[in-house]
Amino acid sequence: MSKFKELKKRVYDANIKLKKFNLVIHTWGNVSELSKDGKYYAIKPSGVSYESMTPEDIVVMDLNGKIVEGKLNPSSDEPTHTWIYKNFKDVKAIAHTHSQYGVAWASTGQSIPCYSSTHADNFYGPIMCTRELTDDEINNNYELNTGKVITESFKKENKDPKSSPAVLVKSHGPFAWSYKSSDDVVDLTLTLEEIAKMSYFSRMIDADIKPAKQYLQDKHYYRKHGKNAYYGQKKN
Ligand SMILES: [Zn+2]
Repeated sequence: MSKFKELKKRVYDANIKLKKFNLVIHTWGNVSELSKDGKYYAIKPSGVSYESMTPEDIVVMDLNGKIVEGKLNPSSDEPTHTWIYKNFKDVKAIAHTHSQYGVAWASTGQSIPCYSSTHADNFYGPIMCTRELTDDEINNNYELNTGKVITESFKKENKDPKSSPAVLVKSHGPFAWSYKSSDDVVDLTLTLEEIAKMSYFSRMIDADIKPAKQYLQDKHYYRKHGKNAYYGQKKN
């Protein structure tokens, strides 16, 4: 029996959940999750529909871009996933979609400002949009360069990927990562899409809207995250 059986099943379930949440149509998205030892990750196969996919179709990769298990090719975004796992410490799962509101913002090249407590509860500060890739970056190793432009954005803004675990890639769409699981990263992707939608409406109602005040942003973020968090139930 494959030692990756459970990992593949979890990644399969997470990909199906992406579809269930209406975050993808056709084959427009993918989820991956890292193995417990951090050496491998399982990812959706390329171009396989959610309807016909089985847990056996999930492809296991190492962090050098080699297939370790599986008959199919991995998602074409595999180099982006590999790059993020290698460069954002402790990331356990990654999701990418072409969801409507996420893509709408990404296409404009604008970051999503923090307009509400809902945003602040989940992402600290704006959800950043990367710069545009150059012709050369698109021509050679496009998917790897997509990963590089993501990590570059966080470095440039001196932003912690843990406090704002998602990004919009300019003219493309959202990527999100979780420090827990593939199931969690799909929930996070849905949250991101809802925030993208709400922020779009706010901007429509008032084109000159300003971000929520910093004090409220901090209050909402830190009551759920960080060492003095008190939201929810105590874990025993
Ligand atoms: Zn894409």
